[in-house]
Amino acid sequence: MGLPGKRTRFILPGQATTPQDAPEDPCKGSGFKKPARCNGFRELVEDGGASMNRPDRDSDGGSVDNSIPRVTLVLFDIWDRDLERTLSGTLQQFFFSIGERIPSTPQVSVQNRPCPSINPFEENIGRFCKLLDDAPGNIRIGVIDVGLWTFSPPPRFIFGQGCRYGSAVLSTYRFRRETQSRKLLHLRLSREVIKILGLACNLDACEDPQCMLTYHRAVEDLDRNRYICRHCRDQFIASLGELFNNFQQR
Ligand SMILES: [Zn+2]
Repeated sequence: MGLPGKRTRFILPGQATTPQDAPEDPCKGSGFKKPARCNGFRELVEDGGASMNRPDRDSDGGSVDNSIPRVTLVLFDIWDRDLERTLSGTLQQFFFSIGERIPSTPQVSVQNRPCPSINPFEENIGRFCKLLDDAPGNIRIGVIDVGLWTFSPPPRFIFGQGCRYGSAVLSTYRFRRETQSRKLLHLRLSREVIKILGLACNLDACEDPQCMLTYHRAVEDLDRNRYICRHCRDQFIASLGELFNNFQQR
């Protein structure tokens, strides 16, 4: 089933890099993706990814079952199968953990798309949100390796951002550059993807510093998270009930 070896721990997006800290080219040095389409500062026309989409598959590589709710991970130029398994496995583990309290356990599927060429120091969240609108699933989580810049003070690369209800984007950019070991990188991202799921579900930042839904400024903040608190868990269940019951299968 591709689950990570340990119990799911859940986390959130962060902030904190100042413009001075920002590397010159957020597309360089990715160990996770094919760099071919990541054109750094060039502003190019994107094709929306449609021409290179692979058929959807579930996280184990099987076919997609359209009779049950579906959560889709949309990987933009990310070809790291280990990371794919970590993210999808974490989501599956979380849904299993709240099993009977949601209408049905969703299928977690994966879709690969090319990353559009962007100017990394512009706010590009809207472009990724728009691409997610075309993706299938009751919930859609985009994952990108490029930096996700915001001008909101202080201007910085952020860990992720919500789009419309039911979709959000996770950027691995700062995690890859600010985490030394691959093992820790996967642990942090397994927590972060839950935080991003929370953004897709419109959950507010939690005040409990040990809860994965709390606010994070640095990647190290994720290391302090130990659980999803009861309040956030209840909020998750309420939102997932809406998203799985009231939204048509896309
Ligand atoms: Zn909480």
